[in-house]
Amino acid sequence: MCGTLWIFRGIPFHERSKLRIFERFSLSTMCLQKIYGLLLAPFLRYNSTIIPKGRRYYMDDLKIYDVRYLKGDSSFLLDDGKTSILYDSGFGFTGFKVAENIREILGDRELDYIFLTHSHYDHALGSAYVLQYYPNAKVVAGKYAAEIFRRDGAKKVMKELDSKFAHACGVDEYEFLGDHLKVDIPCEDGAIIKAGDLQFEVINLPGHTKCSVGFYCKDRQLLLSTETLGVYDGEKNIVPSYLVGYELTMKSIERVSNLAIRKLLAPHYGILNKKQTEFFLQHMKSASENAAKEIVEWKKSGKTDEEITQIWKDRYWYGKVKEFYPIDALRLNTSITVNLICKELIK
Ligand SMILES: [Zn+2]
Repeated sequence: MCGTLWIFRGIPFHERSKLRIFERFSLSTMCLQKIYGLLLAPFLRYNSTIIPKGRRYYMDDLKIYDVRYLKGDSSFLLDDGKTSILYDSGFGFTGFKVAENIREILGDRELDYIFLTHSHYDHALGSAYVLQYYPNAKVVAGKYAAEIFRRDGAKKVMKELDSKFAHACGVDEYEFLGDHLKVDIPCEDGAIIKAGDLQFEVINLPGHTKCSVGFYCKDRQLLLSTETLGVYDGEKNIVPSYLVGYELTMKSIERVSNLAIRKLLAPHYGILNKKQTEFFLQHMKSASENAAKEIVEWKKSGKTDEEITQIWKDRYWYGKVKEFYPIDALRLNTSITVNLICKELIK
């Protein structure tokens, strides 16, 4: 990697990095995907589907754009014509592509804010790359996420997970910018963010991680959701996603149940329509609750963790979920969830 550095002398930092990652990215992913599509399919099938451009949704004067590069990314842009907000930022290795998608939409305008729902690499790491394009964007996240970004150990894990998934997508060499992660506005529960004419309340929703937050726009009854509430495929599949606390998750779900919500922006999916929003709000609690009850029953009847993981795979890992949820992550998360339920619910 160092051997290629001299070529980019005199080119601004973000442009250099962009060249380095995307020359390789376009060769290794795009071409190989075309030429060796079948051969590489087993490695590329999960999160590597490239998102078609121009997907946008309107909510009155507020436009919401899908700026993900890969389906596994979680990154959507909100824009009311005056103020722009990036809601999560996707993987590190796709971060520059996400930034380019934003630039195509905003043109010469600045990106004003980056809202991060939690510190996981597929949601937050891309912000370090987007900031190379938009250094004036203000990063908003929970106070605890800001603390995590300061930990070398956390950045090391992010680097490992991001590069592992990048490798599975055919990207072997790119610059890690985790040291550029930052939070300009670390928020306590209930903090109000005034972003131009848009106003959001930051709501602590721990359960998936300790640092998980949602952003609630009361005027528009819009919730920028977080994975604690479950990962939704837009149809009937809500994957329970509690990794640090079951009771914590149920309390977070309870809080959201008490909000007036007309529209919901879901991680990895985008804006839900009326029917989907209603379905999700009606079923998020039972999805998490029933899954926990079943885990308790299975453990009591002597099922092994491997058997439980297999049941979860058959139950949740199909359709759209399969496109954005790598099987390795599902396996790892299921074993964390099973341990958590044993600790909290089996005395
Ligand atoms: Zn997560």
